[in-house]
Parts: sequence; structure tokens; C-alpha cells
Amino acid sequence: NKALRKAVIAGNWKMNKTRPEAKALIEDLKPLVANAACDVVICVPYTNLETALDLTKGTNIKVGAENCHWAASGAFTAEISAGMLTEMGVEYVIIGHSERRQYFGETDVTVNKRVRAALDAGMKVILCVGELLEQREQGITEEICGLQTKIALQGVTKEELKNIIIAYEPVWAIGTGKTATSDQANEVNGTIRSVVEKLYDKAAADALTVQYGGSMNAANAEELLGKEHVDGGLIGGASLKAPDFAAIVAAAS
Ligand code: PGA
Repeated sequence: NKALRKAVIAGNWKMNKTRPEAKALIEDLKPLVANAACDVVICVPYTNLETALDLTKGTNIKVGAENCHWAASGAFTAEISAGMLTEMGVEYVIIGHSERRQYFGETDVTVNKRVRAALDAGMKVILCVGELLEQREQGITEEICGLQTKIALQGVTKEELKNIIIAYEPVWAIGTGKTATSDQANEVNGTIRSVVEKLYDKAAADALTVQYGGSMNAANAEELLGKEHVDGGLIGGASLKAPDFAAIVAAAS
């Protein structure tokens, strides 16, 4: 039941915004989302984390990173550990985004390791799952998303699950302007919730925030967020403009 869950709208800036651009966007955003009824998170490039943390101090905007490594430290050139993030004050981290899986060789197994490391460091995780277009056409969407969810949650306790948000992001809808219909989003979000119910129990599944992501924007947010199993959104393109992102936040409130 939707009322049991916290709505979370999270921006995923991806590889966008220089530091001056980040500053301007956050300053514009602050007054626009100050009265939000949902949780508001911005996940920004590593180079903007310090700026984002400084500028959002004392506001309702929370800050996240876009990935973290599974090891605490070591010979992993260009990677960032969860401990490095929490030491700065970063609270959230996206794990398993389809762009990481597609372009950077991440697998369900490395996603699981990164989820574990983030939880061990005390972070809140936005775990992304989603099918490719050919998988949807083949009719295996529910199996793919269910399997990705199961593997990513391996070794995660029921208590730790409280620090996990799952974002259903059909890969064909990301950055394409092709949004899943609200019924498609609701159906897969519901499947993910039932997978979680089987792994844990009904109370844990009922309390889990399941977002939709993939071309969500100011025009379609209300329809998507109105669905029983859609508890928020992970927003790429539309998170890069303050009025657009604020309109989605308002739709979740
Ligand atoms: P999009 O990206 O909103 O630009 O489709 C969503 C995401 O990749 O998280």
C-alpha cells in the first residue's frame, strides 16, 4: 500500500555540469523544492560532490554519488570507495545504472559487490534494474528484472533493505524520450516488489520504495507517479533544468 512508502525523486546528472553550472542549478533548485512532500536527492559527478554538499547544507536536498567501488581502498585506478563518499558526507549512491552495465562492463555480480560495500559504509543505495528492448520484445522483462534484483540483493539483510531504493529503468526508455506507459512501469515495479516479498516478507516489500526511471519529465510524471507501485523517479535529462526537476518533485508531493 502506497501510503506506507516514502516517495523519492532523485536526479541523476550523469556526466554533466561543470562546477559553476552545478552551483547555478542547485541555487535555482533550492527555493523551488523547499516545500517538497517527497524526499529530494541529486546524484552528481564526483567533481561536484563537495559543491553540492556545501550548497545544500541546511536544505531538504540530499546528495548522492553515481557509483562506488566494492573495495575499501587499493589498486583500482580511477575508482572511488564508499568510505571516501561517506567521509565527505555523501548519503546516497546509485548502483548498477544501465550505462555502467552497458559501457563499463558491470555485471550483476559486481553490482551486488558494490551494493554490499555501500551498505557496509552506511549509505543509502539507489539500485537500478531494467531490461533491454530486445528482452522486452522477447517477453522476458519480468524474468530479467527479477533476476537482476535477486542477484543485487544477495547477502542483504531485511534490516539493510531499509536503506535500498530500487529504480526500474527500462534501457530503451533512458534518454530516448520514449517513456514506458504508466501501466508498463506499474507492472514491472509490482513484479520487483513481489520478488522482494519472496526474498524477505510482505512488510519489507510494502515498505520498499520502487522508482521508475526513463524519460520521466514534467509532462508525464504525474501519471507515472499516480500508479500504485511507482513510488518516485530517477530522473536524468529533466534533472538538469531546475524548473523541470522541480515540477517532477511537485508531482510526487
Ligand atoms: P533519462 O535518464 O531521464 O534521461 O531518461 C534516466 C536515468 O538514466 O536515470
